[in-house]
Amino acid sequence: MQILFHCRYCFAECRASPTKDKGLLSCPRCRKQLVLRYSDSHRQENRVDVCAICQQQDFYIRDEPRRVWGLVFLLVGLLAAYWTFGVSLLLGAYGFVWHFRKFPKLTICYHCYAKYRNSRVNPEHREYDLEKVETFEKAIRNDRSCRDFR
Ligand SMILES: [Zn+2]
Ligand SMILES: [Zn+2]
Repeated sequence: MQILFHCRYCFAECRASPTKDKGLLSCPRCRKQLVLRYSDSHRQENRVDVCAICQQQDFYIRDEPRRVWGLVFLLVGLLAAYWTFGVSLLLGAYGFVWHFRKFPKLTICYHCYAKYRNSRVNPEHREYDLEKVETFEKAIRNDRSCRDFR
C-alpha cells in the first residue's frame, strides 16, 4: 500500500507506506514532521479501514489512473514481440497484470483527500457519493451554527 497525501503545513505531496515507515515522516519540502496513524488492517491486511491522516472512516473508490499503463505495456509488448522473439510480450503481460488487474482501484478519503494506492479494496467502500458528501457538509454546518448560539 502506498499513501499519497498533502502536507498539512505547505500542501506539498507526501508519500507514505505502512509497511516501510513507522508513521513518522518529514515533509520533503518544509521538513516539518508529520504523524500518521496506521491500523493493523493497514499493516497486515493491506486494506484501508481508517484514514491514517485524519482518522475518519469515510472513503470512496475510483479507477486507478495508472490502469491505462497496463494496456500501454501490453500493446508495446505485442508490437515489439516480432523483434524480441516474444520476450517483450512477457514483459508486457507482466506490466498488464500489475497495473490493470492487481490493484485497479484507488481508495480516497472524503475528508482529507488522501489517496491509498496498491491496496485491497474494502467491500464497504463505494464509488463517490454526492449525498454522502452533503450529509458531511450538513454535519459541519450544524456544528458551526450550534457553536454560534452558545
Ligand atoms: Zn510540508
Ligand atoms: Zn482522511
